[in-house]
Amino acid sequence: MTPPTQDAPIVELHDVEYRYPGGSRSSHAGVGPLSFSVRRGEFFCVVGESGSGKSTLLGLLAGFLLPTSGDLRLLGEPLRGPTERQALVQQEHALFPWRTVLGNVEFGLEMRGAAQPERREGAMNALRLVGLEEFAFRRVHELSGGQKQRVSLARALAVSPPLLLLDEPFSALDVATRHTLGQELLGIWRHTGATVGFVTHHLDEALELGGRVIVLREGRVVIDGPTRSLDLGTLREALKV
Ligand code: ADP
Ligand code: MG
Repeated sequence: MTPPTQDAPIVELHDVEYRYPGGSRSSHAGVGPLSFSVRRGEFFCVVGESGSGKSTLLGLLAGFLLPTSGDLRLLGEPLRGPTERQALVQQEHALFPWRTVLGNVEFGLEMRGAAQPERREGAMNALRLVGLEEFAFRRVHELSGGQKQRVSLARALAVSPPLLLLDEPFSALDVATRHTLGQELLGIWRHTGATVGFVTHHLDEALELGGRVIVLREGRVVIDGPTRSLDLGTLREALKV
């Protein structure tokens, strides 16, 4: 018999709800109830209109928001806050302008108490993954928008999170850069075997990247299926008000 946790989903939600304090019950200020699970190693995309609850869902998975009700588990354990197992990349890079690229990427490892040279090695490996090794000693303001998002991605990757969450990470970039970074992310996903949760409001991006697409509308899941069973028309139809 295999140990019970061996095939446990990385993430499990049972009737998970989150309501923002002050939001009325009838409004959609929040998400849920949501019930679904994610297998280890999956690359799932979450799409939906602005305000549909994508960031709230990611905040829950990252442990930054705690469910108002329901049961949310990470690797079989109730999720009670951020752990070493999740990393979140946000739309606006939150890099420290006074630090070098390397200093920024080392930050997460520093927070986890990693010593030099372990920190340096982890950060350099992550920079290599995103193709920014030569930029290690540059300052953040010397970089393009795409390069800054690569640094944010490297900072998340440096801690080798089993669950990598990205909230519209490439949305502020031009289409070509967005496409390139998406393809690079796919390469990194294959290389690391991490589970990836990717939020976007670009339906084509979701179909291109995800093996699975979850569509949110007013805080609820309206479509959840393998990408091969979905197309743009189906997604657009699901989002129509
Ligand atoms: P999305 O990321 O899909 O644009 P969000 O998860 O940010 O959506 O928001 C979901 C719902 O919760 C929206 O109705 C939004 O107005 C509301 N909401 C988001 N953040 C807050 C907040 N800090 N306080 C109150 N309501 C919020
Ligand atoms: Mg959002």
